[in-house]
Amino acid sequence: MELIIASNNAGKIKEFKDIFEPLGYQVFSQGEKDIHLDVEETGTTFEENAILKARAIYDLTHRCVIADDSGLEVEALGGEPGIYSARYKGLQTERERRLAIIEALEGKDNRRASFTTCICFIDEAGESHLFKGIWHGTIAHREEGTSGFGYDPIFISEDGGGKTTASLPITFKETYSHRAKAVRLLMEYLESK
Ligand code: IMP
Repeated sequence: MELIIASNNAGKIKEFKDIFEPLGYQVFSQGEKDIHLDVEETGTTFEENAILKARAIYDLTHRCVIADDSGLEVEALGGEPGIYSARYKGLQTERERRLAIIEALEGKDNRRASFTTCICFIDEAGESHLFKGIWHGTIAHREEGTSGFGYDPIFISEDGGGKTTASLPITFKETYSHRAKAVRLLMEYLESK
């Protein structure tokens, strides 16, 4: 059975190929299917955005589809940047966005934050299934570490022993991260079918 990954991100595509090919799916990125669609993320939640992206590809192809949406929510900032994590305050670089979060938390005691990933899987019948992973932690006072991407240099997960995610080996995220949790739920679902 064919499965299309609704993403142009090479890392994500590889991750999903590694999961689905052993389960017998023929996996394609949307690019490999010649779909050059940049779906507008107009939803107000991670769930809505994941569904929007998956549904747009399903409507074009009528094949199984996977899409995901993730972000960082900082408690003292009312949940910001949330669904706007990739474009927080309109800042262009990941580094500028990280520094903006640190600055916004200056003088605040509550540094609690969490990462969320929501995966939407649409099956061959067109039915959507959602899988959500949450990773709790706090925001560091300064950037630390070089592994990972995005907000990893300022996120200290509850299971990170006080170190930022970017200071730990990449294998750490593969086990504990929000994305790893959502992917595990998806795999459990597929294996139970
Ligand atoms: P996406 O929806 O997975 O593309 O994630 C949106 C944005 O959330 C990214 O551009 C990052 O800024 C942030 N983000 C999501 N997951 C992670 C992560 O695992 N580490 C650091 N930042 C992340």
